[in-house]
Amino acid sequence: MTSPPGGGDHGSAEEPRRFVCARCGTSVDVPAEGPPLTWTYSVESGIRQYYCETCSRENLRSIEGRLDSDWW
Ligand SMILES: [Zn+2]
Repeated sequence: MTSPPGGGDHGSAEEPRRFVCARCGTSVDVPAEGPPLTWTYSVESGIRQYYCETCSRENLRSIEGRLDSDWW
């Protein structure tokens, strides 16, 4: 099967998904079902919140400092 480039943007089953960091607002487009491996997420009130690599690291730090949060 051949698909010429620019042959139309219709009928694409796999479109990239956009994940937005719940903390700093940065966004990333990934051609997969989940966020990048460097991202993390937590579920709060049944809603998934995604965090970018930078914010994940900062979360880790604050978790190491005080363990009273339910990030993971
Ligand atoms: Zn972030």
